[in-house]
Amino acid sequence: MELRGIGIGQGVAVGTVMRMPDPLPEPAVSPSLLTPDAEGDRASKALAAVAADLMHRGERAGGAAQDVLEAQAMMAEDPTLSDDVTTRLAEGKTAERATFEAFAAFRDMLVAMGGYMAERATDLDDVSQRVVAQLAGLPAPGVPDPEHPFILVARDLAPADTALLDLEKVLGLVTSDGGPTSHTAILAREKSIVAMVGTADARRLVDGDEIIVDAANGVVITSPTPAQKTDAAARIAERAARANAPVRPGALADGTPVPLLANLGNADGAAKAVELGAEGVGLFRTEFLFLAAANAPTVTQQQDQYRRMLKEFPGKKVVVRALDAGADKPLAFLNDADEENPALGLRGLRALRASEDILREQLTALARADAETEAEVWVMAPMVSTVEETRYFVTLAHELGLKTAGVMVEVPSLALLADRVLQQADFASIGTNDLTQYTLAADRMLGSVAHFQDPWHPAVLRLVADVGAAGADLGKPVGICGEAAADPLLAVVLVGLGATSLSMSPSALADVRESLAHYTLEQAKDLAAAALAADGAASAREAATVAAEQARRESAIETEPSPADAPASA
Ligand code: PEP
Ligand code: MG
Repeated sequence: MELRGIGIGQGVAVGTVMRMPDPLPEPAVSPSLLTPDAEGDRASKALAAVAADLMHRGERAGGAAQDVLEAQAMMAEDPTLSDDVTTRLAEGKTAERATFEAFAAFRDMLVAMGGYMAERATDLDDVSQRVVAQLAGLPAPGVPDPEHPFILVARDLAPADTALLDLEKVLGLVTSDGGPTSHTAILAREKSIVAMVGTADARRLVDGDEIIVDAANGVVITSPTPAQKTDAAARIAERAARANAPVRPGALADGTPVPLLANLGNADGAAKAVELGAEGVGLFRTEFLFLAAANAPTVTQQQDQYRRMLKEFPGKKVVVRALDAGADKPLAFLNDADEENPALGLRGLRALRASEDILREQLTALARADAETEAEVWVMAPMVSTVEETRYFVTLAHELGLKTAGVMVEVPSLALLADRVLQQADFASIGTNDLTQYTLAADRMLGSVAHFQDPWHPAVLRLVADVGAAGADLGKPVGICGEAAADPLLAVVLVGLGATSLSMSPSALADVRESLAHYTLEQAKDLAAAALAADGAASAREAATVAAEQARRESAIETEPSPADAPASA
């Protein structure tokens, strides 16, 4: 049997299932036998203990996991939440019941907000369970810890669990809930865990079931046949060999260079990215540095942060994105409007332009950090939709001392006018995540429309081709910095459509580097033509797969020794 879901990364894992234990039951509604003050004391001690435990787990985990766990600890310490608990205790409820209800009310509020906030509801549920367990004197719900390796199956994982997974034992992860942007997905990607999220039928898996998790194809195979297991083992070995292959610059089989760059949110991941062969940074998401800031960071604070990143890449390109605030990444100091459709609202360059002093300060800080370091700094604006906006941003960046200024192509209007856009901009970088969202009119944060969020769609590919053609005509670089660049086969198609560099999460670099090396530029163009001629995302992927197999067969024939070269037999 095959269960479908959303695969994270390209991994494959084979193993036996262990399920996360079921959540604790809802605390009873029966009235408390203690005074509200005594219950209040119990509740505040439990909330503080859970917050301290989450902070402690965060320190142990480090990296992105630490940010997530600290955010959860802050949920436990939220003063509005504790006020709500106190109000409920005054009605004679137990601490268990009052905290449970207060968290549930908080959760409903997040879900009603939708998008990114709704995806944080799982984080809140986890804190609630931990507090109720603490009050009941039970162990915190969490990952099982058997003696043997296993594939963890859960409804969804709380960040606290994902962060501390023992990667020696957890061969893979399957969740029935969660979308491609849930924390489970983000952390799985960062830790290179073979993972599938949103696998609705995973509920049917029970402890001891043997399964294959094939993230590359978005499928879980239950009761695999010996042939399926042999195939999976071969793919696991191939992938391990790729990860250990020597790191070299990205290039096609005919030597055409395709620089492979890293997507980074802060300097902490830079050393690892370089180790994995990143030839620079293709997308530095600066807004990630300031997600928690209530006020705009000063020029000096920004200069310090940018210098830290640039210092890691002497002589290499670092493409810095101006703050992309709004929609899934709201910044308190840039977005204050209450918008019905924030993805279509005052986000990205529109928000920066509405607070031009903040944009000027950011560009000034970047120009100063550029002057202090050896990196080759490029700057680009997010969410640009007109030629006029392009001219505005590029002129301002040049005026403030940044030599190379470009735009992200994330909105179809910009791709459609790429020939005019690239007359103004020094380069373009295609953000396929948003370009897909806006082309297919499907909110990228919403699980119910996740199947539309597929960059293989020929409508998206045609827009990429338009930008690629404009770049080639005008001699301007066209990079790709959305998740699409991390798909090894799609990466070849994107190069065939005219992309001149690819930027991705560092964990994807080895797979993409290996894939590119199999095809010449002519063959990449053949793959692209095959995908473009399809009428949907699935058929585009299939057509490119067939063209890829043919290209590999042709190359194998060409490299076979001719009879004249064969050694004479005795
Ligand atoms: C994109 O939209 O493809 C992109 C790279 O930007 P982000 O994912 O940060 O919106
Ligand atoms: Mg984007």
